[in-house]
Amino acid sequence: ETLPLADPDLLRQAMLIGGAWLPADSGETIDVRNPANGALIARVPKAGAAETRRAVAAAEQALPAWRAMLARERGAILRRFHDLMLRHIDDLALLITSEQGKPLTEARGEVLYAASFAEWFAEEAKRVDGEIIPQNLEGRRILVQKAPVGVFAAITPWNFPAAMITRKAAPGWAAGCTGVIKPASQTPLTALALGVLAERAGLPAGVCNVVTGAAGAIGGELTANPAVRKLSFTGSTEIGALLLAQCAPGIKRTSMELGGNAPFIVFDDADLEAAVAAAMIAKFRNSGQSCIGANRFLVQDGIYDAFAERLAAETARLVVAPGTVPGSAIGPLIDAAAVAKVEEHVGDALARGAQLACGGHRHALGGTFFAPTVLKDVPREAAIFAEETFGPVAPLFRFTSEEEAVALANDTPFGLAAYVCAHDMGRIFRVVEGLEFGMVGVNEGLISTEVAPFGGVKASGLGREGAAVGIEEYLEMKYVALGGI
Ligand code: ADP
Repeated sequence: ETLPLADPDLLRQAMLIGGAWLPADSGETIDVRNPANGALIARVPKAGAAETRRAVAAAEQALPAWRAMLARERGAILRRFHDLMLRHIDDLALLITSEQGKPLTEARGEVLYAASFAEWFAEEAKRVDGEIIPQNLEGRRILVQKAPVGVFAAITPWNFPAAMITRKAAPGWAAGCTGVIKPASQTPLTALALGVLAERAGLPAGVCNVVTGAAGAIGGELTANPAVRKLSFTGSTEIGALLLAQCAPGIKRTSMELGGNAPFIVFDDADLEAAVAAAMIAKFRNSGQSCIGANRFLVQDGIYDAFAERLAAETARLVVAPGTVPGSAIGPLIDAAAVAKVEEHVGDALARGAQLACGGHRHALGGTFFAPTVLKDVPREAAIFAEETFGPVAPLFRFTSEEEAVALANDTPFGLAAYVCAHDMGRIFRVVEGLEFGMVGVNEGLISTEVAPFGGVKASGLGREGAAVGIEEYLEMKYVALGGI
């Protein structure tokens, strides 16, 4: 399959190390396939530890000059990177849809979101202020300086192939760090295209390195190499825990955006229309393959039937089609394993007595398309209550009291995003304060923005991305006691 890109130069089948576009040492490659039809769209290098070591060395070499540059100059380059992403939005969106599957309209939305981090951190680069603290003794002064941590590594997932990279790399580069990016093997083409745009924006060789290939070998080198001072990871809790352990001996700084199991709580006093609209976006964006996607709908007795009926009606109307087909709302899932998990969760819920309100089966399009599904009266013992489904399935659980809703919502090791639909302000505050989650959408289904801190608590991770704090993850503090003055 040949992608009709306006700028074919954006499609790269080589990796970026120290300003050079290279194959793997072994010459081996990984196939990149379109999940909508299984077609081969490209082959990218299957690199391992040796290539990764050279990428880290290139980042280390580029560090002194990049760190020494004025923040304003680094910001200007990031700003150009943002502008280039917008100029090439159609090509980037087509790359995202082709390797990841989401509808083109969503892919364009992702490019805007991805670019927003480049713009935001271009601005924040100039605001890395230090501090002067009133001295504790006569004759001294106390200063706090901020400095880039050094070389960072970014390991990113396939569900947001552009945004998960810029959310990490933009604050890193803004802070004066250089980095090595390891994209998911399902979606390396978007990452490589971003590498092209980073070069065109004027990032010096070695500041942005993109290594594709064997995750275990690359991750092993990135976590063991002493020159890497910071790892930022987005992906599963299982791999996050493994990488944390691998980073422990070298005492590396880490940011971890891991799995979620988001509750979506609907109270009796919620506005039904608004709750359904928020639910549709919180659940079905990216075909349910989002770590902040609503996984468990907790619905109060009084509104349960009306909400279930409306949600099922809206869900049944969703257009399932390849992402490049105009009007597509639900694209294919990423791979066969993803569909198998969705099927397993649906089957398990039905076997335990849940009722099907719509969907519940693979879609007639075949491949990895799954019909958007609403399940009613799901028992709490169902696997779908405990595990992230990562697919287009909305399971509805019933509750009676506010306390019960909060307890159910918190009954998970995860704590990324939660959603609450209600009207009463007292209730909203009580529930928000009771929820053990890093982000809460109140009467809102789409909460991601570069201006707010994204991240989770409990098994959902460590640290925050975006917002003013996002750059702190790439900065060290140095306290200076100036004596004898
Ligand atoms: P997902 O379920 O989103 O695929 P993963 O945690 O498996 O989540 O993958 C997220 C990222 O971590 C991907 O880039 C993947 O290639 C990478 N990855 C997977 N296994 C390892 C590993 N052992 N070491 C380093 N990175 C890994």
